[in-house]
Amino acid sequence: MSSHSPPPRRLRILLVEDDPAWQHLVSTGLAEHGIDVHATPSAGRAVDALDEIGPDAVVLDAILPDGEGFEVCVRLRRRIGERPVPILVLSGRDDEASIERAFAAGASDYFVKSLQWKLLAERLSQLVGTAQMRTELASSQRRLDRAKGLALLAQETARRARELANRDPLTGLLNRKGFLSAAQALLDEPRADPGQPAALLLIDLDRFQRLNDSLGATAGDETLQQVARRLQQAFRNLPLIALGRLASDEFALLFPTMRSSLAAERAAQIVQSELRRPLTCGGLECVVRASIGIATATVEARVEPMLAQAGQALSAAKSVGGNCARRYQAELGHADRERFDLEAALHQALERRELVLHYQPIVDPRTRRLAGVEALMRWQRDDRLLSPGAFIPIAEETGLVYRMGEWAVGEALKQVRRWRDEGLPVPTVSVNIHARHLEQPELARSVTQALDDTGLESSTLELELTETGVMRDIKRSLDSLQGLKQLGVRLALDDFGTGYSSLAYLTQLPIDTLKIDRSFVDKLGESGQSRAVVRSITALAQALGLSTVAEGVETREQLDSLRALGCDEVQGYFYARPMPPRELQGWWQRFDGTPPPAARSGPGAGRGRPGAKTGPGDDPVDAIYV
Ligand code: C2E
Ligand code: CA
Ligand code: CA
Repeated sequence: MSSHSPPPRRLRILLVEDDPAWQHLVSTGLAEHGIDVHATPSAGRAVDALDEIGPDAVVLDAILPDGEGFEVCVRLRRRIGERPVPILVLSGRDDEASIERAFAAGASDYFVKSLQWKLLAERLSQLVGTAQMRTELASSQRRLDRAKGLALLAQETARRARELANRDPLTGLLNRKGFLSAAQALLDEPRADPGQPAALLLIDLDRFQRLNDSLGATAGDETLQQVARRLQQAFRNLPLIALGRLASDEFALLFPTMRSSLAAERAAQIVQSELRRPLTCGGLECVVRASIGIATATVEARVEPMLAQAGQALSAAKSVGGNCARRYQAELGHADRERFDLEAALHQALERRELVLHYQPIVDPRTRRLAGVEALMRWQRDDRLLSPGAFIPIAEETGLVYRMGEWAVGEALKQVRRWRDEGLPVPTVSVNIHARHLEQPELARSVTQALDDTGLESSTLELELTETGVMRDIKRSLDSLQGLKQLGVRLALDDFGTGYSSLAYLTQLPIDTLKIDRSFVDKLGESGQSRAVVRSITALAQALGLSTVAEGVETREQLDSLRALGCDEVQGYFYARPMPPRELQGWWQRFDGTPPPAARSGPGAGRGRPGAKTGPGDDPVDAIYV
């Protein structure tokens, strides 16, 4: 050791030893090795001596007169507590049992009595060193825990602060900000049944201002608090709703899923009957009445537009005197009512088998062979045949589009089965599927089921998804498309060219076909730009190994241009309109081997099908828009 280092502190030992000879021996022996020994002869005094002396360690004789040394050891250990004071038991015996007992009594070490003072001194200073180190470790661990605790506390405080920023201090409900984010989070949750709408109720107390003015602000506050409690109570069994106070006397309730739009009206009735029970404000019993605006949404529900719609519905409720609920309806007046009826009727259309599929041939213009058919949905409503434009948007809004899509897949495959059984070799059928439907596991299940039921090879089915729909959430689409692709079905991007496909993603999508949107085909004759778009789409498709189908081909000129531009297949009035299934056979017989009629160009051209004058194949649609 270097002479410059400070002399090591002498250790102080409490020796509990009844034999004076040993006391003396130990004291002098250890003193030589830098240890001061304070001896106490009796176990009884040992505990007191511990406090008086404050030793670095205790050396304890195992066999003391006034009690077993081990008992003293236990008492000493208890008294020492957390302090870094080791106890070394000195004993004349070195049998296993004694050693075990010593440790069980809290000894830190065990030493057989000998005259090896140096050894004992070393052992003691080692013991003291480790004990101190352990205590330091423990205390730094505690400091660390405390620091962690503080960090947690800070997090918790921040969370509380955030929570407070989202809360209305008067009622404890969410405030506007909190409601908007909680409601949107609920809407974003994947829903078990996408057909079930979300509903937002905007509740406004009638004549609250008057109550506030006549009874005072305190009574007004009390009323609001009671209303808040009633609302909480009314729906306490529904954990997944958002309830907030958006403005002074305006409350909002969001239900992420409701059995139907009608259930939203029932919820409004519950709110009203809950509020109709008298409450006390300012010591008086009073009855509050509320007006309620209801908005429902299914596909891609966003809370803010729902809130705006509920606001409009609320104004409508107020405008007829309040104390009632109104549902938001997109347009007013006659059209509104009609749409409302339509929505209700569409719910039943599936069960009543009012939905039908018409089929439009897709033709390979080089070989003039039937390449496939596209199934297009129609709604036979009473004596009118409605086109998809009239009801698909409603089906999308109400979530019915999913069930309809699954029905269409099943029905289209059954039809192909029937055709083939009748000797009409329809190679593929394309079914339009709403892009959001991709996220529903039911889709893959019903596709598998429909393929099993018909025994058709999976490549018979092509699912058409709009480019815009797929690109809206490309990451999700990728997964779902890959899942479907694994079933072996073909996938097409519909209305291609109208969206903004990222080329990078396009190469990753497991698709087979690009359907060139009709708008480009329409303008082929007049616009060089359309030609350029079509040319680049076919080039892109070729590079990616995809096939192209041009939609809406009405004229011979369009057909020729498309062929020149390298388009593989075409579909349009030039060859055929969508037609009921029973007419396809006749069309095919007339078409196959017969050159298509020299079509006139210009608007309305190509309306006729080859060999057919007029008739059912013309797919008369009575109402395009309601
Ligand atoms: P789409 O998938 O792009 O279907 C092509 C539309 O163009 C069809 O209208 C078809 O009748 C029409 N069309 C075909 N050839 C020509 C032509 O030469 N000239 C003109 N002017 N039009 C032509 P439709 O049947 O009214 O369908 C409209 C849209 O409704 C479809 O567009 C599709 O997006 C949607 N749709 C149809 N059936 C279903 C379905 O079962 N499910 C879903 N989700 N959507 C469907
Ligand atoms: Ca389509
Ligand atoms: Ca299309």
